[in-house]
Amino acid sequence: MRIMCCLKPVPKPGSVKIDPKTHTLKREEIELALNPYDRYALEAAVSLAEETDGKVVAVSMAPPNAKNILLDAYAFGADELVLLSDRAFAGADTLATSYTLACAARKLGPFDLIVCGKVSVDGETAQVGPELAAWLGIPSVTWVKSLKPQNGSLELVRVREFGEEVIRAKMPLLVTIENEANIPRPPSIRRLLKRDEVEIKVLSAEDIGAEPAYLGLSGSPTQVVDVFAPEYKGKRELISGPAEEVVDKMISILKERGLI
Ligand SMILES: Cc1cc2nc3c(=O)[nH]c(=O)nc-3n(C[C@H](O)[C@H](O)[C@H](O)COP(=O)(O)OP(=O)(O)OC[C@H]3O[C@@H](n4cnc5c(N)ncnc54)[C@H](O)[C@@H]3O)c2cc1C
Repeated sequence: MRIMCCLKPVPKPGSVKIDPKTHTLKREEIELALNPYDRYALEAAVSLAEETDGKVVAVSMAPPNAKNILLDAYAFGADELVLLSDRAFAGADTLATSYTLACAARKLGPFDLIVCGKVSVDGETAQVGPELAAWLGIPSVTWVKSLKPQNGSLELVRVREFGEEVIRAKMPLLVTIENEANIPRPPSIRRLLKRDEVEIKVLSAEDIGAEPAYLGLSGSPTQVVDVFAPEYKGKRELISGPAEEVVDKMISILKERGLI
């Protein structure tokens, strides 16, 4: 089975910088980490590839500093690493992101299965997976917690608010993976030692045959008009001094307000 696994590099907490003019993330200047949900997607893809003698192609659309994330994916079991990197991709909303991933899937495929995380921890829309399936004209099943190959199809268990659904789906197919799907494996020491020799294929918009009008800011029907940290407007009082005095003061404040 040939599997594409979409991995989103997200900002490490505390390293986020926003461009004041475009209101977009300054992705080149921030430290990146793998979207935590994508660890479960990668584990699901690698396990399935092992079971079916298949291959996992890990794909990220991100600036060049995301190469480390893909090298980590190699350590966790991905076979091929692809970074989609081009200034033309900057400022992409979910539609332009999924279009870019779809062009890459067409270029690198055919794939039997595309695996995404259930959501990113920064954008948090959960739109990219289903949109990518729509661009490719293939079905998608979201919130999947288990996948079993069965006579050319997959038997999937999907998590719902009220319980679980069992779905049989034909491939090619896209799934988004729940975090309760598995316990991701630790990195392989053998693969960690080969880290410096691993090739990362870097592809531009032209390499994947993408239409410029569908990429980045110009291909994004939604654009961020403002980004700001909410201003704290409440009254604050700092209580300092020896612990006993601080506790007494706290108790009297709470009593004054009728809270105890
Ligand atoms: C209205 C709107 C406007 C935006 N405008 C901008 C903007 O102007 N500039 C800007 O920098 N960002 C912008 N963003 C953020 C940008 O859309 C997201 O970074 C990107 O489209 C992915 O969306 P998401 O984070 O919600 O992913 P989700 O849909 O929550 O991610 C689900 C899964 O899709 C896959 N995936 C998502 N993104 C990638 C990726 N890049 N590479 C590989 N796999 C991926 C992963 O498997 C991930 O687990 C905008 C978002 C929205 C909602």
